[in-house]
Amino acid sequence: MVNCDWCNLSEEDKQFQVYESVLWTVFLSDEQDYIGRCILVLKRHCGSMAELTEDEWEELRRLVCKVETCLKTVMGATLCNWSCLMNSFYKDSDPSPHLHIHVRPRYDKPVMLHGNIYIDSEFGHHYALHKSGSIPAEDKEEVFTRLKEWLN
Ligand SMILES: [Zn+2]
Repeated sequence: MVNCDWCNLSEEDKQFQVYESVLWTVFLSDEQDYIGRCILVLKRHCGSMAELTEDEWEELRRLVCKVETCLKTVMGATLCNWSCLMNSFYKDSDPSPHLHIHVRPRYDKPVMLHGNIYIDSEFGHHYALHKSGSIPAEDKEEVFTRLKEWLN
């Protein structure tokens, strides 16, 4: 779709792509409030889960297994919180939502990267909505490399 940002991702947007399947793309999120947080984006412009085709569902099922296993293996995640929200599109007077799914890995113990400690202080509860999502560039690069290498 011409004026959809998600259909027209720039090279900069794609910088943190960790995996690509036939119908979906997986990116490491800009927001790293939960270290390893990713986003699954459907390649086709489609506004809701209810409109997914059989093939898209089947591929999503396999991706959920793959990404969840990856986050447990390379980051030590205990479980994953999956969410398909789409709310921000509807701030627009003429919304044109593009389906994407967030995955936040959750941790029962701290994650250490380059001497930095990441603690999931809400573990066992809903993810926090206003937690800082910025992490040092070298830590983001490390997470990106771990995920990309495992997934490909
Ligand atoms: Zn789109």
